[in-house]
Amino acid sequence: MRKIDYHMHTCFSADSEANPQQHIQQAIKMGLEEICFTDHQDFHYPGTSFDVDVERYLEAMQDLKKTYQDQLKIKIGIEIGLDCLYQDEIQTFIETHSFDYVIGSIHTIRNTEFFLPGKFFDGKTKEEAHREFFEETLRCVQQFDDFNCLGHLDYIVRYGPYEDKSVNHALYQDIIDEIFKTLIKKGKGIEVNTSGFKDLKTCGFPNFEQVQRYYDLGGRIITIGTDSHTSDRVGENVDRVVKELEKIGFKDVSTFTKRVKDSI
Ligand SMILES: [Zn+2]
Ligand SMILES: [Zn+2]
Repeated sequence: MRKIDYHMHTCFSADSEANPQQHIQQAIKMGLEEICFTDHQDFHYPGTSFDVDVERYLEAMQDLKKTYQDQLKIKIGIEIGLDCLYQDEIQTFIETHSFDYVIGSIHTIRNTEFFLPGKFFDGKTKEEAHREFFEETLRCVQQFDDFNCLGHLDYIVRYGPYEDKSVNHALYQDIIDEIFKTLIKKGKGIEVNTSGFKDLKTCGFPNFEQVQRYYDLGGRIITIGTDSHTSDRVGENVDRVVKELEKIGFKDVSTFTKRVKDSI
């Protein structure tokens, strides 16, 4: 199985100051075969801007891709915040730029974010909030077509005013199964996002039981991403995820060029 990092942020994202060249050097050091930059674009993010300077981003990454062409396969993607309110805008943005790979992520629900002040959780029990998160994720994967993989399936585990933020997947398994089936039917995949290993001391987003479930339902398109916002984290825990994916039955990870899955 190839070692890849298909989820990385740099200074082109509003929440990172990382130098993309240092990401590349770290990726080479970690023995990765391929990486994909996926800086943030979230339209109308509440309270702060998560708009990428897309022309400058593409130009800078093309230059780096050329510089390192003999050392590392570099792809240029985007992590787009899926919010059903802005479907047309999101679709036009993706279709008018030449990204290799698009992660679709739920960072907001109808313009309400989870981070600070996390208004999404007001007046809801944890179960109600988590259910709504998965229901909205299902709506997004049904409605949107211009993405390749769903980002961090159970991202909500990071947030909420609860001492125990963990997600009890069994309570929403019917919805999560529908998310998986919809992705599979549409030829889209999921990622294993390794940022959970460090911050949450759990396994990736989602956990490997859910990855197994996705596999058992027929899902074969999968990527690994660290969600690095600093260069020291590039490639972190990729080895560990590769071993788990092989145990589940995956033969390889998926990579993409111009939003089409590479045939290897
Ligand atoms: Zn994200
Ligand atoms: Zn990210």
